[in-house]
Amino acid sequence: MHYQQPDRSRRSAALFETARKVIPGGVNSTARATWAGWDPYPIFAQSGTGSRLTDVDGNEYIDYLLGLGPMLLGHRPPAVTRAVVAFIEQRGTVFALPTADETTLAEKIIAAVPSVQRVRLCNTGTEAVLYTVRLARAFTGRRKIIRFEGMYHGFSDSVYWSKHPDIAKAGSDHAPRPVPQGPGLPAGIDETLIILPWNDVTALRDALEREGDDIAAVLSEPIMCNTGCILPEPGYLEAMRALTRKHGVLLILDEVITGFRIALGGAQGHYGITPDLSIFAKGLGGGFPVAAMGGRADIMALVEQGRVSIAGTYNANGIAISAANAALDELARPGMYERLYAVSDRLREGLERMVQDLRVPAHVVGLGPVFQIWFADRPIRNYRDAARHADHAAFRLWWEGMLNRGVLFHPGAYENLFVSFAHTEADVDQTLAAARATLTEMLVS
Ligand code: PMP
Repeated sequence: MHYQQPDRSRRSAALFETARKVIPGGVNSTARATWAGWDPYPIFAQSGTGSRLTDVDGNEYIDYLLGLGPMLLGHRPPAVTRAVVAFIEQRGTVFALPTADETTLAEKIIAAVPSVQRVRLCNTGTEAVLYTVRLARAFTGRRKIIRFEGMYHGFSDSVYWSKHPDIAKAGSDHAPRPVPQGPGLPAGIDETLIILPWNDVTALRDALEREGDDIAAVLSEPIMCNTGCILPEPGYLEAMRALTRKHGVLLILDEVITGFRIALGGAQGHYGITPDLSIFAKGLGGGFPVAAMGGRADIMALVEQGRVSIAGTYNANGIAISAANAALDELARPGMYERLYAVSDRLREGLERMVQDLRVPAHVVGLGPVFQIWFADRPIRNYRDAARHADHAAFRLWWEGMLNRGVLFHPGAYENLFVSFAHTEADVDQTLAAARATLTEMLVS
């Protein structure tokens, strides 16, 4: 990060120097690393309240990073904090025995998401994907998984491929090659993956017709949220559903980002798509680590019979369960999503109008509380478009300008801006004023 005002980030810089002596790269997750955009050092967080985050140098930001998604209710949502504190003070954390609270949570998830007839709880999106992919292979007796270039489904060996490959080395546009996300992935996994361009019905139809009998599942986000934000083209998800059904291939929707955020029923509820299996995480726990996987009762029955083992010491621990129960009660209150959309749309539409007025070659893409600004002179339909046409240098200037005006989001153009239930119209108006100043400055320079 090249702070234009380094005197405002002295403590972050010093803490980073100390951290990197004991923690490789100075951070505990890739998205916080210098090479993910936080160059030359990440901002160190001090605290958050509602829509605001304060760093260790005392700078306050309107926060659209939101922990990369989990802080959907804003920082320290009182109802969630109260529930967690009460649970751990009065009852404990881990018992290796079931609690009644888990059933309550499962009932709430099932009530919110009709495609989910049975659900299992775990801790992270990565785990939930791992369990779900294994279950899909066990249920179908088939080996291969179709997934899409530019998406991310966690860091387990079976899916940590082709997130953002160098397209010069990743095969043709219509038939991308699986590219490992880094060294250390065992050989042979590439033979179990079919990587396709997203938003391309023909590529999907061809792959299913060619190899359908060997394909266990299509694994997709309903909205591509790991290459900036890319919406499904009209009819694409419907075609994905129809084609998978035709070939006896399971449709797994990874709603780690979209679940409980796009709507209480997830993006699948918004688009009216019924997957066979779904994965939820970031929207579920009011900021605490909790994830869920679930879907058709006949598929989940394999877990019931113990044939597919889904295990975890911390699965459904007291913190996760009390947090998620409280968070889902908040989300289910009347009018919540209407308000979230009113605030989010004001920002997204305000930005879109602004780039048009100022004639910035950019467009703002997203749905409700998740979106990204693409500095590109044409629409971005999939990862290859982004790799070829997104202007990362322009995004960097935009990010720095906004940061220095007190607006925080991730420095990478392939991440998103998130709006929380705690953001207000006043936050949005302040953000739009910062955006106008930043974009105007970018046009001049
Ligand atoms: N799936 C998707 C769509 C994600 O965006 C992410 C995380 N960004 C994951 C899975 C992995 O989730 P986690 O970081 O909780 O393991």
